Parts: sequence; structure tokens; C-alpha cells
Amino acid sequence: MLLEKYRNTLFDIIIVGAGPGGSICAKEAAEMGLKTLLIEREREVGVPVRCAEGIGINGLREFIDEDHWLLKRYRKKFKTRFVAPSGEYLDLHRESEGAIVDRKVFDFELARMAAENGAIVVNKATAIAIEKQEDKKSIGVEILVDKQKIKLYAKILIGADGIESNIGSWAGINTRPKKNDLHGCIQYNVYSDEIDNETLEFHFGRETCPGTYLWIFPKVDKTANVGLCVKAEYAKHKRAEEYLNDFMARRFNKYSILTTTTGAVIADKTLEYISTDNLMLVGDAAHQTNALTGGGIINAMKAGRIAAKVAYNAILKNDFSEKVLQEYDKLWKKKQGRVNSVFYNLKNFVETIEDELYNKTTSKLSKLPPEKITLLRVMREMVYSKPSLLLELPKLFTGI
Ligand SMILES: Cc1cc2nc3c(=O)[nH]c(=O)nc-3n(C[C@H](O)[C@H](O)[C@H](O)COP(=O)(O)OP(=O)(O)OC[C@H]3O[C@@H](n4cnc5c(N)ncnc54)[C@H](O)[C@@H]3O)c2cc1C
Repeated sequence: MLLEKYRNTLFDIIIVGAGPGGSICAKEAAEMGLKTLLIEREREVGVPVRCAEGIGINGLREFIDEDHWLLKRYRKKFKTRFVAPSGEYLDLHRESEGAIVDRKVFDFELARMAAENGAIVVNKATAIAIEKQEDKKSIGVEILVDKQKIKLYAKILIGADGIESNIGSWAGINTRPKKNDLHGCIQYNVYSDEIDNETLEFHFGRETCPGTYLWIFPKVDKTANVGLCVKAEYAKHKRAEEYLNDFMARRFNKYSILTTTTGAVIADKTLEYISTDNLMLVGDAAHQTNALTGGGIINAMKAGRIAAKVAYNAILKNDFSEKVLQEYDKLWKKKQGRVNSVFYNLKNFVETIEDELYNKTTSKLSKLPPEKITLLRVMREMVYSKPSLLLELPKLFTGI
């Protein structure tokens, strides 16, 4: 077993989970000279893919300049179509570029970069327990590899173990989302001649996807990721899969389904505590996803970078206590946490929008030239059409 030779090693940092958050954390920690171990339970990093693979180019550029893992660039001429329940639509003016990443390649490459920078990366290795130490000089993690258990130690442990994270709760952090902040998702990778390769589509409405949105993200050669996430309250009456199948039947005359992906998104604010003695949580494990869009790739990477920096400083001080690691909570809040709280409130606001308002707004704005139709304009128009919404707006900025 590859890990056997590290039985007597005290790592600076052990990271559980080789998603984008864990791999960036491992890459940057190793780059700063920390003795770094990254473990991943799957046999193949990046598989299975549970993602619509949409990403903002500006966010990506904070980390990577290369483009070879992008399946498709959504440049400015690309259409972003907002489809109302009536079927009428608006093509929004894009202010920034987006892309579709090949998550399988992307996650693999990030883990490879971590290894290239000196981290030890081990697949088929599942964290099954942690062991806190009284003196806070180290923390143990029990790992299951090839049916064998091994306990390894680090000064700092990072839980980057995604939506099903256990590391945080094992350490006594309350990680449980509220029932309605946990959305069940389903996505098909679809082939159809009716897919417009140059248009991203977002569909709204009670019948299609109550409270959230359904996406069509075109990839290449008439394929697209078509999916939706439904919160628990609505899924009680109709499962996410039924919503998607009904939509497919309405939207396409002929199509093939090449892949089905199921998963979940935690549409929440960041957890109140994302660090404790010898431990930090990164990415979905810390509820750092954008609650409005469900996007979490770049946020996980941002968090991974901050956690690596905080770990480095803690190691310089030789103090891995909660007091020192709380710097991570502060830096995250400053960088993204506050914005994410506004997105969370916005998500709750969007959930209350009725079909009639979507239809009215779309009908009104469709008369404008496309370059004048921004997301902000759509929101403004909704408030004009339903002034009682004005009372809701201040709530967007409370509790952040
Ligand atoms: C249907 C769907 C569509 C989405 N679409 C988008 C999108 O278009 N754009 C976007 O930005 N985000 C999207 N997301 C969210 C995005 O996938 C996540 O936010 C992102 O992957 C979070 O990265 P992460 O590193 O925190 O965790 P993950 O990518 O989930 O990685 C966690 C890793 O930890 C491993 N692991 C778990 N437990 C253990 C353990 N005990 N031991 C060892 N390893 C372990 C897992 O195998 C996994 O590889 C979508 C999510 C879903 C479900």
C-alpha cells in the first residue's frame, strides 16, 4: 500500500477529497513547501461527474491560464436565453465570458498539478474517522485503502470532501443543511438536432422547475447538459426526474440521452464555523456554493487557496489551534462569504416569484434591443411590475 511508508510521517497538511477545492489547496500548500497528502476515495479523480460544468472565465483565470480543458467558450456573442413560463424569452446581454469545462479532465488535471508541485496524491483512499489530540499539535485521520486501515497524522486536516462531507461533523461542526436548502438534482447529457450550440438556456416556472431554474448548457456537436435542481418541498409532490422528463417531452421532438447524472446542491450560506482546532473545511463541505446559481467550482478553489495560505501561516507559528485557523473564516467572509449571503437571500427571493410576473416582465422587455437587457434590468422591471417586491429588497442585505 502506497500509504504504508508514511505511517511514521507527520504531514503538515492532509486533504480529504480531490475535487477542485481539495486539489487547489494541495497544489498551493505543496507549492509553499508544506508536506502535503491529498487522498481521494474514488478510483479515478474527477469521476463520477456530478456537474453542469458551467464556469466563469474571470474566476477561472484567478487560477489557470490554459484552456485545453474547456469544452466550449461562451464568448460575448453567445446568447444567454431567459425563458419565461409562457415560452416567450429574452436574450440577455452578457457582461462576462463563460465556458463549459470538461470536469473529468479538469479535476484530473488539478490533482495532477498538485502532484507536480510536490503533493502526494492517493486514490482509492477513504477517510473513515478522525482522531483529535489533546495537545492540538496534530490530528489523526483513519483511512481505508484496499480493505486495510491505516492511521496517518498531520498538523492540519482539510475536509474538502464535498456535499456528503463527514469530516466537519466528525470534528463537532454542525454541517447539516436546512431541509429546503438541500436541492436534489438530475441532469441528462443530451444529443439533439434541436440544440442550439450558440445559446445557453435558463427556463423558469412552476411547471418546469418550481423556485429555481432548468438549464441547457450546450457542449459540442449538438450535445448539451440539460438539468435541474428541486428543493425538498416541491420534490414531495413530483420527483426531479419527472420534472425533467416532462420538460424534455415539451422542448424536444427527438433527442437521445447519453448520460444521466444525479446529485445534490446545498443552496445555503457558508457554515457559521468552517474551522476548528487542526481543521478547516473547504468547498461544498463548508457550504460555499453560490446558493442562487448552484455554482461551486470556483468558490471551492478560492476557499482551497485561502485554506492553504492560512495553514502555511499556522505552520510558521507552530500553532494549529482554532484561534489561529479562524483567520480562514475571516478571510473567506471577506473574499466571498458576504457575497454568498446575498446570493442566498436572492435565492429565497427568486423562489417567491410567480409565473405571471416572469411572463409579464419578459413580455415587456422583449421589445427592447438585446444590448439593453441585463439581469439587473430584468430585476428592476419585476419590481416596477410588482412594487410590493420593494419591501423584500432590503432583506437581501440582512444577515450577511
Ligand atoms: C447537478 C449539478 C450541477 C452542477 N453544476 C455546476 C456548474 O455548472 N458549475 C459549478 O461551478 N458548479 C456546479 N455544481 C456544483 C459543483 O459540482 C460543486 O460545487 C463542486 O464540485 C465543489 O467542489 P469541492 O471540491 O468542494 O467538492 P467535490 O467536487 O464534490 O469533491 C469532493 C471529493 O471528495 C471525495 N470524497 C468524499 N468523501 C471522501 C472521503 N471520506 N475520503 C476521501 N475522499 C472523499 C469525493 O469523491 C470527491 O471527489 C453542480 C452540482 C450538481 C450536483
